[in-house]
Amino acid sequence: MNQKEIYRDANYGKQLVTAIRKITTRPWKIMDTCGGQTHAIARYRIEEMLPPEISLIHGPGCPVCVTPADTIDTAIELALNNKNVIISTFGDMMRVPGSKYDLLTAKSLGADIRIIYSPLDALKTAMENPSREVILFAIGFETTAPVHAQVVYESSKRKIRNLSLLTSLFAVPPVLEHLFALPDFSVDGLLAAGHVCSITGLSDYHRLSRNYQIPISVTGFEPVDILYGIYTNIRQLEEADYSVCNAYSRMVPEEGNPKARLVLDEIFEPSVQNWRGLGSLPASGFKIKEKYKSFDTLKRYSIKNKCLIKDDGCIAGEIMKGIAKPVNCPHFGKACRPESPLGAAMVSSEGVCAAYYKYK
Ligand code: SF4
Repeated sequence: MNQKEIYRDANYGKQLVTAIRKITTRPWKIMDTCGGQTHAIARYRIEEMLPPEISLIHGPGCPVCVTPADTIDTAIELALNNKNVIISTFGDMMRVPGSKYDLLTAKSLGADIRIIYSPLDALKTAMENPSREVILFAIGFETTAPVHAQVVYESSKRKIRNLSLLTSLFAVPPVLEHLFALPDFSVDGLLAAGHVCSITGLSDYHRLSRNYQIPISVTGFEPVDILYGIYTNIRQLEEADYSVCNAYSRMVPEEGNPKARLVLDEIFEPSVQNWRGLGSLPASGFKIKEKYKSFDTLKRYSIKNKCLIKDDGCIAGEIMKGIAKPVNCPHFGKACRPESPLGAAMVSSEGVCAAYYKYK
């Protein structure tokens, strides 16, 4: 059986569970860093298959969940105060609370907010509506950042003047470094998000593993992938041998995707980024370079982000740091439910609270 078939093999999954049970001798906390992994872990009851010594923690793996409230407020204000504006956004953002209300409420108040399935849809909207201003709400990690960069690149090439990007784009290694350096960070091993690594490559992860003496398993999204990532992580922990293990090599080359990074580097540069629940972190986001500033919504409309800290009792920040789980939140399943979310993690399809509410 080759690598492309084995990840769907239930027997291999059972063998991995047995192997994990066999090698685990002590308590270990393993953190995943992708909403897709979090949902697969909850959906397939992976934590329940593991020995009781292993605890699975859920880090900052959902870009919608870490998009700050004031960026949502900015999108809402632009759409409501300017009838010429069309906001293009992924559907996941529609019900994420801003500081007053969400995009869905703004739409019901008359704002022209359109759901897209790819950032390139916004380019099409701009070309079809030359007299309107199209704002692409650009959300994501390094996985979607290159596609957003491609939109700017194509728009520039085609001389499209009525499109700009309101960016909320995040870089994963800087936030991991922030977490690893926290004095109360007590996670032992990390499952890195395979799709992010397929773009970035592994060099940052080698540095993090070496500097913080933490095993990092680059992990996929199928149940067997996740079990294999956990197995390689526990094996390293038990042997006190800390490095990066590529447990998703069918998709992740060591050097990542140089073509995607080329377009990323052409359009964006690292910038300070506000993470909902974690605050402002240096060089943890992407901003549009000066050369392409006409595509930057904040510059085009002379807007300054306010970096609001919204105190709504949401403990998503504590969950991302590995200090709490959704069930520790006093609002979980009570004041905060998918139909009436207090925090973004309850409403996004990659949100950790949404996963626990749906599957646990
Ligand atoms: S249950 Fe709701 S309020 Fe509590 S941490 Fe999750 S999203 Fe935030």
